[in-house]
Parts: sequence; C-alpha cells; structure tokens
Amino acid sequence: MNDCIFCKIIDGSIPSKKVYEDEKILAFHDVQPQAPVHVLIVPKEHICCADAITEDNAAVVAHIFTKIPAITKSLGLTNGYRIVNNCGDDGCQSVKHLHFHILGGTQLNGQMA
Ligand code: AMP
Repeated sequence: MNDCIFCKIIDGSIPSKKVYEDEKILAFHDVQPQAPVHVLIVPKEHICCADAITEDNAAVVAHIFTKIPAITKSLGLTNGYRIVNNCGDDGCQSVKHLHFHILGGTQLNGQMA
C-alpha cells in the first residue's frame, strides 16, 4: 500500500490547492508556507528523492524545470524566486516524494543553510 502523501495529493484522495497540472507533474501550494508564495512541484511518478534520479527517470525533472518559468509568472513572481530541494535525512526531507519548493513573493534571505 502506498502511504505517500504526495501520491495521495496526485490521485486526489488528499485535497490540495493546485497551481498547475499536466500529465507528468503537479504544482500546489505548500500547507505551511515559508514565504508569501510557497509552491511545491512534484512528478506524478513516485521518485523518492533527488538521490534516486537516474538517466531513466530524469526527463520528468527536466520537464519540471521547463515549466517553472510559466508557473512562477502565473504566481506573480516576476522579480525572481528560489528553488529548493531537500534530500534525505541530513537535507531535512520530510516527504519522501521528490519535490521542488518554489519560494518567493519577497526578497528572501541570503542564507542557504
Ligand atoms: P520537505 O521538508 O522538503 O520534504 O518538504 C515537504 C513540504 O511538504 C513541507 O514544506 C510541508 O509543509 C509540505 N506538505 C506536507 N503535507 C502537505 C500537504 N498535504 N499539502 C501541501 N503541502 C504539504
């Protein structure tokens, strides 16, 4: 049984505030925003984390990045934004389904960690 929360958001059994969807990816607002705009972009295929990206599944990651310019513009992020990926325990990844955080809507602090 798949108890992945993002897989459940993708299949609609858990609600989300959708921003963008196509056959390969979904973007939705984070429930605990850490910036005025905080959106998550996920592949519909369950990939646990950045450490599991391979030649075979990397196309969806490229697809996400080709959609980010339009998604961010639709969110009003015309002056820049930050893309964050947390990977594994040391990276404080809490949901084990690959996702990219889009943060913006203000000038973010300059710290990476
Ligand atoms: P990470 O810590 O990088 O794994 O990020 C997981 C993110 O998922 C956190 O920012 C959470 O606030 C967010 N999150 C967890 N559950 C949900 C949910 N049901 N809907 C939207 N965002 C969620």
